[in-house]
Amino acid sequence: MVKLTVNDLKVRGKRVFVRVDYNVPMEEKDGVMVINDATRIKETLPTLDLLISQGARIILAAHLGRPKGQREPAMSLRPVAAKLADMIHRPVAFVDDCLGEKVEKTVGLLKDGDILLLENVRYYKEEEENCPVFSADLAKLADVYVNDAFGAAHRAHASTVGVARVIAQRGGQCAVGLLMERELKFLGDELDKPARPFVVILGGAKVSDKIKVIDRLLEKADTILIGGAMAYTFKLAQGHQTGKSLIEPDRTGLALAAVAKAKQRGVQFLLPTDNVIATPVDSGRVNKKGRPIYDLQNPRVNTALDIPADAEGFDIGPATAQRYAEVIRGAKTILWNGPMGMFEDKRFAEGTNIVAKAVVDATQQNGAKSIIGGGDSVKALHQAGLGEQVTFMSTGGGASLEFLEGTELPGVAALGDK
Ligand code: AMP
Repeated sequence: MVKLTVNDLKVRGKRVFVRVDYNVPMEEKDGVMVINDATRIKETLPTLDLLISQGARIILAAHLGRPKGQREPAMSLRPVAAKLADMIHRPVAFVDDCLGEKVEKTVGLLKDGDILLLENVRYYKEEEENCPVFSADLAKLADVYVNDAFGAAHRAHASTVGVARVIAQRGGQCAVGLLMERELKFLGDELDKPARPFVVILGGAKVSDKIKVIDRLLEKADTILIGGAMAYTFKLAQGHQTGKSLIEPDRTGLALAAVAKAKQRGVQFLLPTDNVIATPVDSGRVNKKGRPIYDLQNPRVNTALDIPADAEGFDIGPATAQRYAEVIRGAKTILWNGPMGMFEDKRFAEGTNIVAKAVVDATQQNGAKSIIGGGDSVKALHQAGLGEQVTFMSTGGGASLEFLEGTELPGVAALGDK
């Protein structure tokens, strides 16, 4: 079903409740909270600019962190209001609550084109409970609902679902924002009828997190390339030794089923043939959570099928990286979700970097559409300095994964159809 978008709305003089994803990374510096990365704020500017030009009275709602129903001062959205005002070159009002008399009064004073940011909706536990009374109180503030928070669309919370339902029941329009529209286009429509070859690259920590995506994409992709710690569960399933590598022994059945399905459907399904391994040695120190810190000693390439008992795999090896890069350079559509190794440590970032470079080459030289499915793959691309050279980077980690699994996102389902 095609959803109503913000472009379809008539909003002049109307109060528009816009759910945005302003869950930005922040850090305390000299007693003030400073925003480390404003990408999520920047991504909402097209929707806001459009609404301003149409004369809407904008009420922004968002969450920050996990305050679990408490007023955690470090998770206040106040610094975000200041940052947004800077970026959008106009004042942004802020109230230190998201509902109640003070908020209603401020909303009443908004003129066409004005913006108000509400305080963190998760200061109320009712937000995550999708409480009907809380939703109705929030919905009182507005006539129209827009959801531009793709990163929160997999959660059925009050501000992502409840408010939309109340506004829809009153006959108000509920639409997707421009960012959300782009996410649905690239992660949805573009992958439904992909230009071929369609190459899917999947990495990250766990098979259990990605198995549903693998299963779904086995019905669409020409090739699937597997990397990350996930690959070791496949290795284990095929009867090889995995040493101290991160594995999920109870998922070997799922791994074998994926390999069998690939064979049956004629999908090329590649697993690493070599790895970068290291020997973890207890340093005697502990981290903030009191867990032992291991020094990863003697990083080296392992070309054997088995990983030695005292070693752990942290990256795909050079031969695998080259083979994957070759396949990727020939692709016309690429979907990438999950790093090839523990890329946060430079010694284990090479595989991810080679794959990232190949994705960029395919995009720039082969005219491929490259779609990056959020979270750590986006981080890895930025770390490699290649962030701007792909077709699309999703802003949602969990949401993009759930959407790729074929699950209808509650935050999208709650919106109106065209
Ligand atoms: P995910 O959230 O499932 O995409 O996993 C991303 C995380 O997996 C990153 O923090 C990586 O450091 C980690 N990771 C990827 N490969 C490995 C590996 N071989 N061993 C340990 N961690 C890994």
